[in-house]
Amino acid sequence: MPSIGTNEGAASPGRQPGDDLGACDLSPGSRPGLAIPSCRVRREKSRYRRLSDFLRQKFGCRVWKVSVDGNFDCPNRDGTVGRGGCIYCDPASFSPSRRLAVGQVANLPDMPRQIGNLPHMSITEQLQDGIARLSARHRVDRFVAYFQPATNTYAPVEQLRVLYEEALAHPQVVGLVIGTRPDCVPDETLDLLAEFARRTWVSLELGLQTSHDRTLAWLNRGHHYQAFVGAVERGHRRGLDIGAHVILGLPGESRDDMQATARELARLKVHAVKLHNLYAVKGTPLADMVERGEVALPSLAEYAGWVVDFLEWLPSECVIDRLSGDAPRQYLVGPDWCLDKAAILAAIDAEFARRGTRQGAEATLPS
Ligand code: SF4
Repeated sequence: MPSIGTNEGAASPGRQPGDDLGACDLSPGSRPGLAIPSCRVRREKSRYRRLSDFLRQKFGCRVWKVSVDGNFDCPNRDGTVGRGGCIYCDPASFSPSRRLAVGQVANLPDMPRQIGNLPHMSITEQLQDGIARLSARHRVDRFVAYFQPATNTYAPVEQLRVLYEEALAHPQVVGLVIGTRPDCVPDETLDLLAEFARRTWVSLELGLQTSHDRTLAWLNRGHHYQAFVGAVERGHRRGLDIGAHVILGLPGESRDDMQATARELARLKVHAVKLHNLYAVKGTPLADMVERGEVALPSLAEYAGWVVDFLEWLPSECVIDRLSGDAPRQYLVGPDWCLDKAAILAAIDAEFARRGTRQGAEATLPS
């Protein structure tokens, strides 16, 4: 996104490699939204399991995500699954700074150009650039490479291997996060990821958005919920950590509907969840609907309540990768409040405090 990005997502316009601190975003397209690890709000005791805490626990030091663009396309845009893409997704936002216009850059490696539609910076160049900026700004020296924009498994396995190997070859990269669609992870791709997972930490991030097929159809996602269930089960059989991207506030979904999605993720034992508020980016079908008054974007108070509802149903061990998303102001149709990350965190914390609950308060599933 700058679209609500999610999986697979797009990176936002104006976004730079490595902006993602700790997490990516929702979208394809989304800006580094509320990336938990990057959050500057220091809280003594969180009521949810933050990604930053998980990474520190796992690696023994601060580790941030640095996003990279493998120049992938999306089967929901090129006609393989559908055309037009998800209604919130703006492909123009796919890392514009890294997908350079033809002729702008000389002597680029051949491989990435064969996969996508435009020449772009190599994975190594993107990592060098992103890591240099993040290291200077935040004094972090270990990173996980986050393949974020578009569908990062949408290529033959041997091409995927080359790209992932290139990322892992960077001496400061200690793991891989691969964002993709649940209908784009054939067994041979999962086998490849499992092979990498024997050498390093690998997280497979699947764009789900909702467990309700009627909403997936409205979003023009091009897959059903069962595709997600199958991908998670096949990934788990290979020992992979799997994350899910979810949008809260989708039209037609009640609080019960959103909590039902949380219960499904708990049942499936996903490793991590990335939450996004519904927001609209200019140039997308969703933005048109918002501007015509057909879709109402939620208020911050509504969203904070839904987030807490959702987290209460997730097991306490589930990693919370992100709590909101946004787009740069010049691309954002709304809501404006999604640009104020500190206010969002404060509203969520206040709602937890008001209820006297925490992540997992409602999770009573058998182990
Ligand atoms: S699945 Fe494709 S169209 Fe949908 S958000 Fe991801 S990249 Fe965009």
